[in-house]
Amino acid sequence: MRPTFRLALALAFTTIATTALADTPEEHGQPVLDPSAAGTSLPTLDLEADAERGIDINVRFPFLAFVHTIDPWTEQSMMNVSWHPGCPVPISDLRAVDMTYWGFDKRPHWGRLIVHHDVSASVVRAFKAMYTARFPIRRMEPVDRYGGSDDASMLADNTSAFNCRAKTGGTTFSIHSYGRAIDINTVENPYVKGALVLPSTGAPFADRTNIRPGMILEGDLVTRAFDLEGFDWGGRWTSLKDYQHFEIVPPTN
Ligand SMILES: [Zn+2]
Repeated sequence: MRPTFRLALALAFTTIATTALADTPEEHGQPVLDPSAAGTSLPTLDLEADAERGIDINVRFPFLAFVHTIDPWTEQSMMNVSWHPGCPVPISDLRAVDMTYWGFDKRPHWGRLIVHHDVSASVVRAFKAMYTARFPIRRMEPVDRYGGSDDASMLADNTSAFNCRAKTGGTTFSIHSYGRAIDINTVENPYVKGALVLPSTGAPFADRTNIRPGMILEGDLVTRAFDLEGFDWGGRWTSLKDYQHFEIVPPTN
């Protein structure tokens, strides 16, 4: 390559690069989103600095919820995992609720609950109350991510709803099988029956007098929010305590 031609080529590339840089959204004062940051959480920000500047986090990151019918891709992921032929409700009766939740990291995140369409509006209102009050939630993923295993989902401290399965310690369908039961922060709010604590990592939280973040307690904002929607709380049961569990028993035909 002749030196003059090489110089011309370098100049041409410099011109292209400069043009491209000058045309980036940043030049126009718009935020540039990093595509690699998409997925698990919304872009992070300095909440303390925002507070000092008087920016209301509720305005910047309001509670958002979208209720969808189950799309074919989601149905495929549920088939023979959280749902199988013989389950008491068809997938067409279920809804995917995509919504923001407040994390233990004091940041908003996107989560998804699969619930019965009859209770989807109630679920959105209850979780809005929790988000607004900054009640922390560890994670919120459909149980299909855990192979439909309630044990694996509980160990992950996962908040979830629909799962067509037998009652814990029983043979009849759990209310989760109807998409009408929700488990929240399963480690901080374990299932306790005598000496049995599920998940096992929830054992330190069997003591309900030592109050820690993410725990659900009688009369707190979480139980009040679900009371308003007509849910029964497992923390009020007498034969056992299921602190993570809220349900609305399906109407009998
Ligand atoms: Zn439950």
